[in-house]
Amino acid sequence: MKSGVQMDKITVAELRKFAEEFVAHEPGRLGTEGWWLTPIMAAAPVDERFKQLPQIAADDHLHPHDLLPTAKGVIVFFIPFIKQLVKENKDGDRPCRNWGVAYVQTNDLIGRLSQAISSLLKEHGFKSALTPATHNFDEAKLMARWSHKHLGYLVNLGRFGVHNMLITPEGCAGRLGSLVTEAQIGEHPLIETDEACLLKSGVECGKCMQACPVEALSENDFDRRGCWDRLNENRDNLDYFSDLPHSTHVCGKCAAIMPCSFLNPVALL
Ligand code: SF4
Ligand code: SF4
Repeated sequence: MKSGVQMDKITVAELRKFAEEFVAHEPGRLGTEGWWLTPIMAAAPVDERFKQLPQIAADDHLHPHDLLPTAKGVIVFFIPFIKQLVKENKDGDRPCRNWGVAYVQTNDLIGRLSQAISSLLKEHGFKSALTPATHNFDEAKLMARWSHKHLGYLVNLGRFGVHNMLITPEGCAGRLGSLVTEAQIGEHPLIETDEACLLKSGVECGKCMQACPVEALSENDFDRRGCWDRLNENRDNLDYFSDLPHSTHVCGKCAAIMPCSFLNPVALL
């Protein structure tokens, strides 16, 4: 126990409810309709599995203990986008204006939600640590030193698709956030299948590969540089992104109205 701070139990059910209410309030705060559906959250204890991060993600990927030496749990959440936004981004080979706006607003939401969860944990006597939703990566290697996707995979929030995104029980069209905490919140997986991508399960699909405007996707490979160049090109050349932050790196064609956009299609087989 820390001096003067009472450490009391907090459950993943409480954290999930907190996140759901936080996201539900966001449209009212912004005075807009909002882009988000109910978030989902998975968690796991800090154990041996996280030692594989340098092998499965960037070779200099951080361990949860690098963020917080006393961390006992990892929490990863996914905020799904509304269908209307994903549908709007389907047309053409460039992202729509709203996709860029939603990216910016969602990163801000993820940052504030993570801070709010951290404050809630602190009220219960537990420290936590977090990293930004994006742009915590090496631009030469194009790999994150803290990959929410890989953390989401390890806590069993989802599985990787051929499009290199995480497919959760609520699909892949949305954004991820994560934090580490001293709280022992236990094992709370959400994905129920070994794979969540149809093609990886041996079923015909590959729709994301066909949708990529720069052919960055193939069944066993991802042209990281080709994808990144496209994101930069979109940001630099689309007039309707000119008022958005320089960090608005978006495309999202491989997530737009795919079999895995809003659910885990393998769970339906
Ligand atoms: S579109 Fe099909 S092949 Fe691509 S990730 Fe989704 S399920 Fe897999
Ligand atoms: S984000 Fe765009 S460029 Fe990158 S893989 Fe998906 S469709 Fe291709």
